[in-house]
Amino acid sequence: MNENLQRAGEPVQRGRPFSIEVADRIKRLPPYLFARINKLKYEKRRRGDDVIDLGMGNPSDPPEDFIIEKLAEAARDPRNHGYSDSLGLLNLRREVASRYFKHYGVRLDPEREIVVCLGSKEGFSHLCLALLGPGDTAVIPSPSYPPHLFAVSLAGGNHIALDVANTEAFLSNIAYTCQHLYPRPKLLVVNFPHNPSTAVVEPEFYVEVVKLAKRYGFMVVSDLAYADVTFDGYKTPSFLAAPGAMDVGVEMTTMSKGYNMAGWRVGFCAGNAEIVRALATIKTYYDYGMFQAIQIAAIMALRHGDAAVEAQAKVYEARRDVLCDGLERIGWPVARPKATMFVWAKIPEPWAAMGSFDFAMKLLEEADVVASPGAAFGPSGEGYVRLALVENENRLRQAVRQIGRCLGGGRTAQAVREEMTAAAKQ
Ligand SMILES: *Cc1c(COP(=O)(O)O)cnc(C)c1O
Repeated sequence: MNENLQRAGEPVQRGRPFSIEVADRIKRLPPYLFARINKLKYEKRRRGDDVIDLGMGNPSDPPEDFIIEKLAEAARDPRNHGYSDSLGLLNLRREVASRYFKHYGVRLDPEREIVVCLGSKEGFSHLCLALLGPGDTAVIPSPSYPPHLFAVSLAGGNHIALDVANTEAFLSNIAYTCQHLYPRPKLLVVNFPHNPSTAVVEPEFYVEVVKLAKRYGFMVVSDLAYADVTFDGYKTPSFLAAPGAMDVGVEMTTMSKGYNMAGWRVGFCAGNAEIVRALATIKTYYDYGMFQAIQIAAIMALRHGDAAVEAQAKVYEARRDVLCDGLERIGWPVARPKATMFVWAKIPEPWAAMGSFDFAMKLLEEADVVASPGAAFGPSGEGYVRLALVENENRLRQAVRQIGRCLGGGRTAQAVREEMTAAAKQ
């Protein structure tokens, strides 16, 4: 008998260090760049500072009451607590199909062309796993919504990030990349309205994307997270409405933003049946589907939630105006987005030279306002910060005042607050 074998009942030997070797895919992941800012944010909050957090795009308003009541009702039904179908309830997929027809004139077969995801982030990540492997390249937008990059990396793929600031140039850069990269890119990720840059497109853009996809043989994933958050009468087109789009790709949509259901994790992948099937296959190996009560409430939300979705977009539009007008007034003019829940603000002179990380730290240290540094979204984001419209109008006005003092007089938010309190007492 081998004497080194552990005998039953004996304590595990603690002496020898055991080294944990995680997989290469974990080591390959890009670093998490918000760590420094988050650390300071938590320190400040612990000290009792009132930090205005415009960092994460985390919707802060609740969903409609009738949706929550439906969830509670469905949760009380004993039939809803078992494993569900990992494709999602057919009635939920039918609701997605009818929304696509109503909004974009796109006809989808709910049985073959739609799958329900645990949020579109999960859907997108597993879709990359279904479509990409080591050696494959995906073209992604730059600046980049970090999960676009992480998902390609976790699948073992490489990415090329192409600037979306000018959509004409974006298209010609796709063509150029396909002509010069070997093996050619296998997948194109588009995301309009775009997070973080807020760039938007018109329907003709997708007509060109489909032509390029067919010419160069790449698949397309459109991340349409901000379908429901558009302003000034702008309506975002769907990639799937372009002629031939269903031959080459799929589109991800979500209930996180327009419906204020981010924590519920409800997203959809729709389009090309083979791609949808590939995602569905991966998902049957990884999950047992979404809690059925959530799916039932989501059906009601899609069926009866249009007015609330429009009202929520108006809320973001009003906040956008408060923030953009306010920043302009303090001498920091910023572009007014047509969609998304963000303002992508070019850092004003003379602070641009300090870089977006240090500028964001300055805003947090001296103005008690959290902004996301543009460089956290890749090199082309340098020179910008992203401000999320997730606080109410009064808080945004307060943020503007504090930023104004910080950039204007070099005084701290603490000093500003003391002055304001003193002024209020007089
Ligand atoms: C917020 C957001 C999503 C939504 O992700 P969920 O997983 O559906 O909550 C997807 N893509 C982009 C670009 C986003 O900004």
